[in-house]
Parts: sequence; C-alpha cells; structure tokens
Amino acid sequence: MIKIKVALLYYTEDMEKYIVSATKSCKSEKSAAELFKKNFTQKNLEKTIEELLNVGHMSPFEFGEFIFSVEGVSRQLTHQYVRHRIASYLQQSLRSVKPKGYNFIVPPKLIESKNLGLIIKYIKQQKEAFDLYREAIELGLNEEDARTILPIGVKTNIVCKMNARELLQNFFYLRCCQNAQWEINMLAYTQLLAVKIVSPKIFENAGPSCIFDGKCKDLINAKLKSREDSKFKHKCLYYQKCFKETRKKVEKINRLAEKLRKEFVEKGHIAVDLTKLLGYKAPKNIKKAVSSAIGEEIDLDYKVFLEISP
Ligand SMILES: Cc1cc2nc3c(=O)[nH]c(=O)nc-3n(C[C@H](O)[C@H](O)[C@H](O)COP(=O)(O)OP(=O)(O)OC[C@H]3O[C@@H](n4cnc5c(N)ncnc54)[C@H](O)[C@@H]3O)c2cc1C
Repeated sequence: MIKIKVALLYYTEDMEKYIVSATKSCKSEKSAAELFKKNFTQKNLEKTIEELLNVGHMSPFEFGEFIFSVEGVSRQLTHQYVRHRIASYLQQSLRSVKPKGYNFIVPPKLIESKNLGLIIKYIKQQKEAFDLYREAIELGLNEEDARTILPIGVKTNIVCKMNARELLQNFFYLRCCQNAQWEINMLAYTQLLAVKIVSPKIFENAGPSCIFDGKCKDLINAKLKSREDSKFKHKCLYYQKCFKETRKKVEKINRLAEKLRKEFVEKGHIAVDLTKLLGYKAPKNIKKAVSSAIGEEIDLDYKVFLEISP
C-alpha cells in the first residue's frame, strides 16, 4: 500500500514572540531578551508579523523552525526535497535498511492513463528490479552497490528541519505551484496545512508564488510572448485557469486548517487522513484488472496522512 505520513515533530513555541522581539530589538535600546519578557498582546504580535510580510522584511522568519518526519515517499521526491539548501536533512540509508517486499510507488498519472498494458508492465518491471536486488545481495554483492538496481520510485523516510522563511519564500513558493512534480507538490501542501494549523498568522498567505506575492512567472512570460505570437494567448488562458484552481485549493487548505486548529488546541495532537484532499484513490476496475494480471492484490491508492504531535 502506498501510504505517506508526514508528522510535524517540532515547531518553535512562542514563534511569533521570538520573531517580534528580535525584530523590535533592531530599533530599540532594549535587547531581544528584555523585549521577550514584555507582554505583547496577540494583536500586537500579529500587527508586526503582518508589517514584516508586507514590506518583505523576511530574515526575522528565520527564527521560527519546524521539524517534519516524512515517511513512505519515493527517492524521486527526496532527491528534489534536498535541493532546498536552507534546511537540514537525515534520510534512511539503503546501506543499513534493506527495503522489505516490493516497496515502490505507482504514479497516479500512470493509473489515470488507463493504459492497462503500461501499468502492468511498470509494476512487473519494478518487482523484477526488487527481485534482482535481493538476488544480487544473496550472491554476495554489498548493499551499497546492490541498491543501484532499485528503481527511483523506491520508498524511503526522511526527516527535515526548515525555517519559516525557507518555507514561505522558497519551498511552498516553488513546490505548491501546479508546475511542480506531483509527489513533492502533495508533500508541500501537506506541510502547508501543518504550519497553517500551528502558526496561522505567519502562514496566512503562504502558498505558491501566485498566492504568496501574486506573481506567476509563467503567466507573466506568456503575456509578454503573446504580444508577438498569438499562440501564447492560449497559454495565458491556461495559467489564468491554473491560478483560479490553485486559489480554490489553498482556500480549502485554509478552511481545513482553521477546523483542525480548534481540534489541535483542544487535544494537543492531530492525526488526519488527507487522501481525499491531497492523495489519490485508484478506480476499482483498474485495481481489479491489475491485481488479476499480476496475480496478487496491488493497492494503487496513494494515501496521505498528517500527524501533529509535538
Ligand atoms: C518546477 C521545478 C523544476 C525544476 N527542474 C530542475 C531541473 O530540471 N534540474 C535541476 O537541477 N533542478 C531543478 N529544479 C530544482 C531547482 O533548480 C532548485 O534546486 C530547487 O528549486 C531549490 O531552489 P533554491 O536553490 O532556490 O532553494 P534553496 O537551496 O533552499 O535556497 C533558498 C534561497 O537561498 C539563496 N541561495 C541558496 N544557496 C545559494 C547560493 N549558493 N548562492 C546564492 N544564493 C543562494 C537563493 O536565493 C535561494 O533561492 C526544479 C525546481 C522546480 C520547482
């Protein structure tokens, strides 16, 4: 079963207060330590956060940190994840942990193609890779080299620490965009929901570039090109439609975050199934046809779970 679980393990408590005290210390006789002791009202904290975001003074947001445990994603995803350099990572090692069974992801778009022949070929080929991997180890090849046989869709776990600035200006900005690859896009939206639950003011307008600062580079580009070439008018329409869809999706996330925040405040933890919103459920007839062709039950759903239990 493809089941990814994102757990928010840690976030800076009193994050808004750290950010505001540090910011105010820039223009005060008082140190950040002295200012931190002050009793800021929630309204006061939120006003400063809003001003910082409005003027683009982003370095104070580096004082708020988050640790995410990400479980069951592909190495294809983690390869993209770790490209975000203003973060810390530790990933499960294939030298130490041999994958059990057939531990690979099946892209929902492949299933959506409804090309049964291709889906079955894909699954058989992935399984063969795992079989060859185990055979190679049995024949004496070390894990470090045997792992090169495994597909890029092999599942893995990773833990990541990112600060609020990196999330706002870089990770969500790029990876919540519909242009981003589907799996990291799904992870970015799961993380977006998590931070909106615990830090609503800081992440109030967080999301892809079109939401965060109203800049869709693709739309700007298409508009410029359409002045010379009419075929780019279609591209403009496409990106305008994409913006509307993205806005709807982020609004859904906002509404869910608001609902879950209440639960989080009450219980102190959250465990939620996001499959309907962010994951994928394969059609029953495809599941049945694939399972009968492969000779065993193959679960093609992509289930997504979020846990917050700091
Ligand atoms: C849609 C999409 C397609 C992509 N396709 C490809 C691809 O085909 N091939 C590929 O290799 N990558 C690709 N990438 C990854 C991309 O090149 C970046 O590595 C990734 O998005 C991380 O962005 P970043 O470097 O801005 O982020 P981070 O590394 O997190 O850096 C954050 C910010 O810090 C600053 N910064 C960090 N390091 C430096 C530095 N050394 N010098 C100056 N400033 C720095 C920059 O302002 C940067 O934006 C793609 C990304 C996306 C979103």
